[in-house]
Amino acid sequence: MIKANDPSLTSWVEVDPKSDFPIQNLPFGIFKTQSSSPRIGVAIGDQVLDLAILNKLGFLDNLKIDNSVFTNQYLNDFIALGKQTTMAVRERISNLLNANNAELRDNKEAQAKVLQYISNVQMQMPVRIGDYTDFYSSIDHATNVGTMFRDPTNALLPNWKHLPVGYHGRASSIVVSGTDFHRPKGQTKPADSELPVFGPTKLLDFELETAFIIGKSTNMGESVTTANAGDYIFGMTLFNDWSARDVQTWEYVPLGPFLAKNFASTISPWIVTMEALEPFRTAGYTQEPKVLPYLEYSGDKNIDIQLDVIIQPENGEETLVSHSNYKFMYWTMEQQLAHHTVNGCNINIGDVMASGTISGPTPESFGSMLEITWRGTKPVKMKDGSERKFINDNDTVIMRGYAEKDGVRIGFGEAKGKVLPTL
Ligand code: MN
Repeated sequence: MIKANDPSLTSWVEVDPKSDFPIQNLPFGIFKTQSSSPRIGVAIGDQVLDLAILNKLGFLDNLKIDNSVFTNQYLNDFIALGKQTTMAVRERISNLLNANNAELRDNKEAQAKVLQYISNVQMQMPVRIGDYTDFYSSIDHATNVGTMFRDPTNALLPNWKHLPVGYHGRASSIVVSGTDFHRPKGQTKPADSELPVFGPTKLLDFELETAFIIGKSTNMGESVTTANAGDYIFGMTLFNDWSARDVQTWEYVPLGPFLAKNFASTISPWIVTMEALEPFRTAGYTQEPKVLPYLEYSGDKNIDIQLDVIIQPENGEETLVSHSNYKFMYWTMEQQLAHHTVNGCNINIGDVMASGTISGPTPESFGSMLEITWRGTKPVKMKDGSERKFINDNDTVIMRGYAEKDGVRIGFGEAKGKVLPTL
């Protein structure tokens, strides 16, 4: 077992049992305050540990990392140090925060400099994203969509069980949790109209997804295998791939998603490392028919991560509309990465690869309003008495996620965004 994952570890920093960020998690993010420039932080309980000051004060001296890596507006340079080093940083921080270690515990002066409440800082985009790819790897989601839009008896297209279907998305409009955006406009073709019309989307939806962040670059021509894919994955976040369903229906043939998807995607600010998630690995689907050799893998490669979607009307109460789980994925991250690079396509540190909508087998676990309301035919009852078929103006959609076992909860925080009226 990785030492920092030991369920018996406790910290001298007070951590609520319901917190997403116990000492076993230690996710990395970028934060700033009114008085300080962006820098790397690690979440512990409801506080953030400032790695730039921690390093400056000498607490990370054994790692010999230039402070410019920590006083940085992105994690890319830190990730580029390599897994050996970033894992060593995680181990050192685990050690410093350990209840049995007096180094920082008994140094109140240093504590005051390196710790502050998350509620007092502004979380930033964690990485500079060069490229963004979105997959379509949940079998229940693909089956639901195929059933609704094509043919219930042939819901999955012939390629679906042979390769992890994906498309290249747009990195420029990926925004950090808490960033509001305006309802997008576009072309749609109403069923009763012969010609398309232009206006605000009427069918704005969320897609419950996770994303993994590339931790090691490749050169053109190189391929990552399912066996070594783990070396190339730094960690995971929550991801809301906002979608305009009416725009999508009209535009997507034959080249796939375009303006229906690229107006905004919301990412959670904390990157949970693959090391912290390792104890939650679980078996995936039996893949039948058998996949081609380059997609074969061994071991438990799915991960048990509970995922919630909440809609919060303006000034209203939260209503839980979906409770899903990352373990319902048919294709694993390792397979997605092997497939993505099998043709020699290069990947770069900070690239984002999203899972695709994560739906489970039951309606409570569907990962989009399209599926939850079955194209709007079964509206969702909200706690304030109103109904939702899709997302209204001034609604906030909040995604939360956590893995939990042996009394340890490895959480992701939130990916949240509010839809403002069309500009
Ligand atoms: Mn998607």
